[in-house]
Amino acid sequence: MTARARVLVTGAGGFIGHHLTRRLVDLGYWVRGVDIKASEFEPSPAQEFALLDLRRWENCVKAAAGVDEVFNLAANMGGIGFIEANKALIMHDNVLINVHMLEAARLAGVRRFLFTSSACVYPQYLQHRTDVTPLKEADAYPADAEDGYGWEKLFSERQCRHYAEDYGLDTRIVRFHNIYGPLGTYDGGREKSPAAICRKIALANDGGEIEIWGDGNQTRSYCYIDDCIEGILRLMGSGYPEPLNLGTDRLVTINELVDMVGRAAGKTVRRRHDLSQPQGVRGRNSDNTQLRAVLKWEPQVPLEEGLAETYRWIEGQLRAQGRIAVPAPDATVA
Ligand code: NAD
Repeated sequence: MTARARVLVTGAGGFIGHHLTRRLVDLGYWVRGVDIKASEFEPSPAQEFALLDLRRWENCVKAAAGVDEVFNLAANMGGIGFIEANKALIMHDNVLINVHMLEAARLAGVRRFLFTSSACVYPQYLQHRTDVTPLKEADAYPADAEDGYGWEKLFSERQCRHYAEDYGLDTRIVRFHNIYGPLGTYDGGREKSPAAICRKIALANDGGEIEIWGDGNQTRSYCYIDDCIEGILRLMGSGYPEPLNLGTDRLVTINELVDMVGRAAGKTVRRRHDLSQPQGVRGRNSDNTQLRAVLKWEPQVPLEEGLAETYRWIEGQLRAQGRIAVPAPDATVA
């Protein structure tokens, strides 16, 4: 990335966009943040922040004006419950955002454009087993992406490729695998599994019970937000135009995730499995061969540490809202 470039972060009011904005400002970039909503948990550190609906073409033109680089993170998305119940809305909104942002960036003479894709582009036929073979970038085809959300990401990846080939726009494509950490949504239906589990355990009594979607044997890999931001910056600074995984390759079950959060919380909880709830693919892991080769690096933060940080933050939020009873003073006395 050019020193002191002017950059646009779309989705700057969201989880990853907010962290990315803070890191870019710390590094000395001038950042315009754009989102349809303000940053939820703390003010945006962006030098300029505009509330704009990026489904609309004229707003994408305003957002891209005068910037050198675009980090395009804006998307209507959420956890598995949200994306399974809102396929038309997700495809409608995200196709409009991405098609308009690419064209607006091209017309504005933007030098480099990052698109944030997802592990949801990988075919469902490769993810039927909990001991899944880690997914490498080339596995995305023949395509059978996650219905709705995953197909839109795959379409937008190709649109980036065509803009690079036909118009010479320098594009980067990152496929995130389950990013988690503080300052992310933890309530309201759009939260992902680590945040949902942290909230449930924070609200449960020691020895109490929490609900888990599915039998809990489904597997995933999780990547802490600081590693995600480092990976984004390394990819943006690389010369690599193909899609690249960004995640860890440590496969854990949801049940193991619950136990880790329980240890961070100092609580033992019983799991009540609700098999009627959506649970996504049976297993998903990231093959990091290409990530290591391109970025000369891979995610560093151990899951236990990242979860402990995330738990502390979510617990603090719930406590500040009065949703966790403050222990009676004598209860804390040894
Ligand atoms: P997020 O929901 O916290 O952030 C997305 C932001 O986009 C939100 O603040 C939202 O308000 C904004 N947005 C939605 N519609 C908009 C519109 N019409 N105009 C302007 N802004 C709009 O999600 P996140 O976790 O920060 O994800 C960032 C990007 O990374 C998204 O593109 C997402 O699909 C992708 N991704 C995230 C993960 C993950 O694990 N968090 C995994 C795979 C891919």
